[in-house]
Amino acid sequence: MTFERKAPATPAPASTSSVRGAASRAAPPLLAIVVPCFNEEDVLPATATELLALLDRLTRSSRVAPGSFVCFVDDGSTDRTWPIIETLAGARAGVSGIALSRNRGHQNALLAGLFGVDADVVVSIDADLQDDPDAIEAMLQAYAGGADIVYGVRSNRDADSWLKRTSARAFYRLLSACGVETVFDHADYRLMSRLAIGHLRAFGEVNLYVRGLVPLLGLRTATVHFVRRPRAAGSSKYPPLKMLALALEAVTSLSVVPLRWVTLTGFAIFLGSLAVSAWVLWARFATHTAVPGWASVTLPIFLLGGIQMLAIGIVGEYLGKIYIETKSRPRYFIDRVVGHPGPRAPPAASGAGEVPPGPH
Ligand code: UDP
Ligand code: MG
Repeated sequence: MTFERKAPATPAPASTSSVRGAASRAAPPLLAIVVPCFNEEDVLPATATELLALLDRLTRSSRVAPGSFVCFVDDGSTDRTWPIIETLAGARAGVSGIALSRNRGHQNALLAGLFGVDADVVVSIDADLQDDPDAIEAMLQAYAGGADIVYGVRSNRDADSWLKRTSARAFYRLLSACGVETVFDHADYRLMSRLAIGHLRAFGEVNLYVRGLVPLLGLRTATVHFVRRPRAAGSSKYPPLKMLALALEAVTSLSVVPLRWVTLTGFAIFLGSLAVSAWVLWARFATHTAVPGWASVTLPIFLLGGIQMLAIGIVGEYLGKIYIETKSRPRYFIDRVVGHPGPRAPPAASGAGEVPPGPH
């Protein structure tokens, strides 16, 4: 694992008081680890054990404040994920849980966690621990040095299948081709300060792709590299179709470049048809040999028909987005809460039904 400070403009040395927030960061921060979970019964006990052991180590070495906790967000699982979270929360002080009313997808579950907890810093991590939790310590160091956002970046993806690796790389390239600012090989393993999360709340859009929005926040950023591990148990909750949906969401919610491609393609075809028209006229009037061919009639029909369908599809994607955005529907509903996703004193009987601060 390597650690580097990414330099936006000219960063001040982390040790000086000119770094925003660095002075107040001398004290260990209250850390919340947010874990979105969808049908993760196989891996959850092991994940909880590893994360709680890490929290213990970090608390003992005064890297984080006592009372730091893990918050599992159940994204409408149909297996035993929520009962497991309830049991863990009952048994350990450092565990809390938020259950969404139904499956709303990884990005919404992530937001429910980020906005639902009350902590100085929040680290989001996948339930399968493919993202090495040991990188959290380096993230905290970067936070102490003044960073508000610390990206966990995969230094290799050998643990991923060929299909996963290739499609992910193609996806990042597509996003940069569309002018979307992305951190290559970074998914949703990151640390965000209270300030960064406060800014993230200001994005009112319902269609969203969190890792595309975070770079738009600005602030001080740092990068921590880690080696991606194989999934500890269970199977991927991102089958190819879901990945494709995420890619479509990412592109259409962050970029209008595809619409520009449609315009450019239309313009190129228009120029081409001008040339073809000139050739047809020349053949008709100058050579007297014009026998309209089958190919020259049918090919453009198919070609143009295809391009038009594609163009209408792309325009329709954006139109659909506008339609959904105008409704301003809530992103998710919280069904139940266990434990205490914040530093408050535990209430007597149970915290169930209590709604943490959130965007609802
Ligand atoms: N996840 C979720 N809701 C979904 C799909 C996935 O909360 O609808 C969570 C899942 O439980 C995991 C994270 O998103 O914590 C990433 O999923 P996974 O590790 O299966 O994706 P992969 O690593 O295969 O891309
Ligand atoms: Mg995974």
